[in-house]
Amino acid sequence: MKLSLGILLACCLAGLQFLAVTVVVYSYYVSSERVLLDHARNLLGDVGRNTIEHAKGFLSPARGAAELAARLAENRIIASDNARRVEQLLFQQLRIAPQFAGVYYGDRSGSFVYVKHSEGPGAYRSKIVKADGATRSTQLIWRDREFGVVDTRPDPMDQYDPRTRPWYQTAKSQAESVWTDPYIFFSSRKPGITVAAPVLTETGELQGVVGVDIEIDEISRFLAELRIGESGAAVIVNANGDVIAHPDQQLLQQITADGTFQFVDIQEIDDPVARAAFAGVSPGTGTVSQETYSTFIHEGQNYVTTVMPPISEQLPWTIAVFAPEADFIGSIKENRELNIWIAAGVACLTALIGVLLAHFIQRPVSAFAVRAALVSQGEIDPSTPTPKTYRELDLANETLMREISQRRQTEQVYGQTFDHSSHGMVQISQDTGRFIRVNQKFCEISGYRSEELLQKSVNDLIHPDDAVFLLTGRTDTQAINGDWRCMHKTGKVVWVNVNVIMIRDDKDMPQYYVATIADITETKKAAAKIKNLSRDLSHLARGQVLSQMASGLAHELNQPLTAIAQNADTAMLTAKEPNMPRPALMELLSDIEKQAHRAGEIIHALRNFAKKGEEERLPFDLRALLRHSLNLVRAEAAENGIRILVEDSKTPEVVGIRVQVAQVIVNLVRNSIEAMADSASAEREIRISTALAGEFVQIKLEDTGPGIPAGFELFTQFETTKPDGMGLGLSISRSMIEAMHGRLWLDKDYANGARFHVTLPVAEDVDADVGAISLSVHV
Ligand code: ADP
Repeated sequence: MKLSLGILLACCLAGLQFLAVTVVVYSYYVSSERVLLDHARNLLGDVGRNTIEHAKGFLSPARGAAELAARLAENRIIASDNARRVEQLLFQQLRIAPQFAGVYYGDRSGSFVYVKHSEGPGAYRSKIVKADGATRSTQLIWRDREFGVVDTRPDPMDQYDPRTRPWYQTAKSQAESVWTDPYIFFSSRKPGITVAAPVLTETGELQGVVGVDIEIDEISRFLAELRIGESGAAVIVNANGDVIAHPDQQLLQQITADGTFQFVDIQEIDDPVARAAFAGVSPGTGTVSQETYSTFIHEGQNYVTTVMPPISEQLPWTIAVFAPEADFIGSIKENRELNIWIAAGVACLTALIGVLLAHFIQRPVSAFAVRAALVSQGEIDPSTPTPKTYRELDLANETLMREISQRRQTEQVYGQTFDHSSHGMVQISQDTGRFIRVNQKFCEISGYRSEELLQKSVNDLIHPDDAVFLLTGRTDTQAINGDWRCMHKTGKVVWVNVNVIMIRDDKDMPQYYVATIADITETKKAAAKIKNLSRDLSHLARGQVLSQMASGLAHELNQPLTAIAQNADTAMLTAKEPNMPRPALMELLSDIEKQAHRAGEIIHALRNFAKKGEEERLPFDLRALLRHSLNLVRAEAAENGIRILVEDSKTPEVVGIRVQVAQVIVNLVRNSIEAMADSASAEREIRISTALAGEFVQIKLEDTGPGIPAGFELFTQFETTKPDGMGLGLSISRSMIEAMHGRLWLDKDYANGARFHVTLPVAEDVDADVGAISLSVHV
């Protein structure tokens, strides 16, 4: 099925538009996505770094405070035994840094000063443990912001000994300031860490340890305030997997079986996205060594995440910042979908425009096509103006019209040639052999009207004895040519020469036959007449030869007859004598028989020669014919002292008209005799030989006469050198031999006289059996 121009154009335009817009949309989408994801990566990295800086900034005052207190203690600016001075120093530190939960100092004697924020009755509360050997006292003092005492109370039940606490022991053993792992402060239930700095004597002995408790819930608050995309978050996990900072502080803690609070492990936190973000990271040993950007999928949603390396050795915290990918590229994804819809819309619109455009373009083309069809069918004249159309179509139209008019002209010429031909012409169906079209001349030849002929096939008209025409199923391109007998409507026979050619289409498929038929009845009759005439002519010529040979033949016959008469007389006389021996009589009788036989042969040859009517080509023995023919000329040759030598080789039978071949031989031999009779040549000889030459038997006849004069036109009628000659002999001889499919020619290279060659075709069913050559001489 062929597509219409409109649909094709619409589909192409729409398809191309859709393709173009989609390619632009996608390339824009891919490049924007890359840019935005790069941006997201940078953003997450920035947030991570910010968080680190924030945590560091948040924690560093604690170290400073602890170390400052330790240095002061070392330099005896505050004496460990002066609890009030120590309390004052710690109070100042606590006031400076709001993130400090409490500041304290424990010495090697077990004394302990601890200042912390308080809910009441004062803003601060101090706990002062004085230990001196076995005696110890604990005092609780509440103070206002100006260090004024608000309330005071002893705590006799207190058993707190700083030296047993991990912070003290760690600082003591490491002899430098140490950071504890984050833990939940017992009293405030807030997450925090402790920094502890040892106070050493001048000799390096441990005097005591200064500690600072820092609440780190501020870090979680900081995380809660961060804006990471639409719904991104950052989480800090300690090296042991504890989540120590999370935007939602509620999720950080859990109560253990013994009633204490502890951090939730990252694997257990009630935040599946955070769990997924840390799925590939194991805080602590396997922590990433550098900022690592990756993606993960949670509940079918793509997330981007950046994991920061641990903050420091003291703070082996891992910060992961994550956010849904859609927070960054969601809008461009939406935009992409919108753009694809726009592309589809544009494609539809373009398709519509394409259809309209195609319609607009096609209208003149259709009008042109309709016109071309009408012109081709002859409905309208090619000269009628073309509809308004394109320049290209105008040019095509010109060419087309030229073609059409040429074709019409050709058809007209063909039609006229066909109809008015002097030959019969017919078109014959290749399938059925029926006549498709016949011309007037063929109607005349066949005697039928054209309507009658169109109902007939070729073979209906062929003479029943002639081979039928085999037209159907023929694939060869060779023309069929031949003479057939056609049955005229009246029943009389009409001889026709038929030439049939096959007409094929552009694809070389047989279409029909065209036959040209000529009435050759008259020609056939004339040929028959000519045949009869030439038969008469050759008979006449033989008659003339016979009349010329008459005296010679009479002499030839006279000889045996005279001999017979003499022998008969002698025999009678001998028979009357009583003592005559029988052998002598027998010899006379035998001679009589021989002479009679000879005379009989001559008469036989004469009768055959003079016979009229034999005209059919038949196989015969050329050697026998040669022998018989020479009987007719032997007397004439002898009379002129000419020897006839025959090289009598065994040759197969030939095909020809016997009497005419004899006529040719006699004619050639007599020409030689006549030529030599007039010449003074001493050697007078005629040599005749027969031999097989391919599919022919060749007779060679040469004489020792003067030969043919230079420039003399042999084989031309009425050319003769003889006073009583007619100059027809050789001409008739050649015609007769050629009619028998043989040849007769003069060997022009022969210089010792004249040499003629005659060939005759070998009879087909006779094997060539060439025997030895025997030579016989006839005088
Ligand atoms: P015609 O014998 O009536 O002249 P031919 O056609 O037989 O007619 O011969 C034509 C001429 O060819 C002869 O007149 C003769 O001059 C020449 N001719 C034919 N045969 C020979 C021959 N064997 N030797 C020389 N001349 C010949």
